[in-house]
Amino acid sequence: MSDQIKPQPGILDIALYEGGKSHVAGVANVVKLSSNENPFGASDRTKEAFARTVHALHRYPSTDHLSLRTAIAEVHGLDAGRIICGAGSGEVLASICQAYAGPKDEVLFTEHSFLMYPIYSMTAGATPVEVAERERTVDVDAILSACNRRTKIVYLANPANPTGTMISAAEVARLAESLPPQALLVLDGAYAEYVEGYDGGASLVDARDNVVMTRTFSKVYGLGGLRVGWGYGPRHVIDVLNRIRGPFNLSTAQLEAAEAAVRDQDFVARCRSENTRMRSWLANALAELGVPSDTSMANFILARFASREEAEACDAFLNAQGLIVRRVAGYKLPHCLRITIGDESSCRQVAHAVAQFKGVR
Ligand SMILES: *Cc1c(COP(=O)(O)O)cnc(C)c1O
Repeated sequence: MSDQIKPQPGILDIALYEGGKSHVAGVANVVKLSSNENPFGASDRTKEAFARTVHALHRYPSTDHLSLRTAIAEVHGLDAGRIICGAGSGEVLASICQAYAGPKDEVLFTEHSFLMYPIYSMTAGATPVEVAERERTVDVDAILSACNRRTKIVYLANPANPTGTMISAAEVARLAESLPPQALLVLDGAYAEYVEGYDGGASLVDARDNVVMTRTFSKVYGLGGLRVGWGYGPRHVIDVLNRIRGPFNLSTAQLEAAEAAVRDQDFVARCRSENTRMRSWLANALAELGVPSDTSMANFILARFASREEAEACDAFLNAQGLIVRRVAGYKLPHCLRITIGDESSCRQVAHAVAQFKGVR
């Protein structure tokens, strides 16, 4: 360790982000339900588009992402000039912090929100501020009370992860309207596609100059391993983010596969409806076993147990059967397990295993 070469203040306070587990020692065929991945993978058209890019590996990719931005704009009815693409929505979410928050500034997010938000804010040297939720649901009044002259960014995932809860468009609009003038509202729409008819906040972005929306190809599009996401915002914000974006931040394979994916909305619709069907089936099955969950609007449910001990014991029991779900103690929900909605067979396996667990105790 050098005592002369030091990172920026705050960097060494960052706790490493842990992804969902994907292995159980001694179990060959696991069912991974720990990272909110699409159980059906990517669409065939997407895979074909990805495969075709092998012939252009020697060429540098597009720097302006025009073709992908145009496809996204056409599909969602947006202005292509106000879309920015990144290596996962994570790159866009992080660059907003880098551009708009620094030392002495505050970045707000809520009690059970995505663990990357404090990491983005500490990386930028800003102060992370956590706001209480009400019954695992975002509380707009609590966010507004926590705002002050130093507040630069408010991150809000809607639907939220890991709670799966959602607040109404009217509540989000009220938040945007009531923020202090120097603060930007960042709407993280990672799970927006799972909500039928929801625009992820795009119309609010169009109506205001203090709202940015981010979206991802990692969830319903089944492309978590590819790393593509995008943001939609006011021109002044997109102009700033483009200044700090790497010119070749997305490869040709990422761009071409994502473009094919966004144009395949039939696939998205099928995945959404299957998710909705199995989500209510699993939530009901677990509720009957005495394991309730809030109404989820996303591709997972947050199963609530009587105690941390029971949640951990059930997690260990599921693990032994090759079922990997997510412990969420790091999200201040030690008595809960987040379970991704898999295909029908995986959901049935989970319900069966939880029934056995409850029976054997
Ligand atoms: C999964 C997820 C994302 C997506 O991140 P990518 O970098 O696009 O893979 C963003 N926000 C939340 C809350 C998520 O759960």
